[in-house]
Amino acid sequence: MRVAFLGLGAIGWPMAARVADRHQLIVWNRTPARAAEFAASHPATVAGTPREAAAGADVVITCLPTSKDLERLLEGPEGLEAGLERGTLLLDCTSGDGATSRRIAERLAVRGVQFADAPVSGGTNGAAAGTLTVMVGGDPAAFARAMPLLESFGSRIVHMGPLGTGDAMKAVNNTLLAVNILALGEGLVALAKAGVSPRTAVETLNTSSGRSFVSESLIPERVLSGRWPVTFRLALLDKDVGICLDLLRELGLSGPLLNRAGELLHEAGKLLEEDADYLAPIRLAEERAGVELRG
Ligand code: NDP
Repeated sequence: MRVAFLGLGAIGWPMAARVADRHQLIVWNRTPARAAEFAASHPATVAGTPREAAAGADVVITCLPTSKDLERLLEGPEGLEAGLERGTLLLDCTSGDGATSRRIAERLAVRGVQFADAPVSGGTNGAAAGTLTVMVGGDPAAFARAMPLLESFGSRIVHMGPLGTGDAMKAVNNTLLAVNILALGEGLVALAKAGVSPRTAVETLNTSSGRSFVSESLIPERVLSGRWPVTFRLALLDKDVGICLDLLRELGLSGPLLNRAGELLHEAGKLLEEDADYLAPIRLAEERAGVELRG
């Protein structure tokens, strides 16, 4: 398959690396040096513009911060839309919003271009290992066509339903992730203040009913170890929660718990550095309580 990949960010890079090993790949990135660096270490060529990347591709993959970024990337004589050919499939792996995805799909359908929203979950390590979960919204035929490519970086690839349902699934998933992070920050800090060693608290939690992916993986690897890598920016998680809350409003649901989590996450984002990682709200909880969970 001839594949174009646009957006070599924290997760786009390892996803594209796995595509490069299996398909003929051309890459484009807004900051050209990053695309050049990618092509220096992977079997891929570099496109000078989005239009050039898309020309002649069977499938185009995009992985940008937001759906609106993709919408803007389509524009102009050197934009993505100018290069998309009839019959091409555009797979958007951005954690996007369904309303914009549907608008993009309508616009591209006029030109005979297929579109599917295909956000991923599993983090940068999952991308490198090829174990991402991919949540696809769109025509079942587009899903079937995308499968061999999505298998490059995904081990669980699910057709969620019509256009925008991949985006919806991802936004709700990440809002539940945010709830978990905030709740664990509050709970573990309380246990530390009550005199329980953080490591004992986490180990006990992880054989009890309050455990989660955050408590089982992220807290031991990043918080107890005292390593706080930046692999997924808090601003992106905040964006995902915003998409979920917009969806609740569209559906006429109040979602009081999720809304409150959204407010707390947003407030944390304002207090933290601009490129803070998504686990940084736990650091804030530590600071507020005057305890350290490292140990
Ligand atoms: P990054 O911020 O690391 O990278 C964003 C990428 O998009 C970069 O290649 C950047 O280019 C490019 N970009 C940013 N703005 C524009 C624009 N306006 N036009 C064109 N290109 C642009 O983000 P991630 O890779 O972490 O995330 C990408 C998507 O994947 C997001 O929707 C995120 O929510 C989702 N995601 C991320 C995960 C993670 O663990 N990181 C996990 C699951 C989903 P440049 O190099 O020039 O900045």
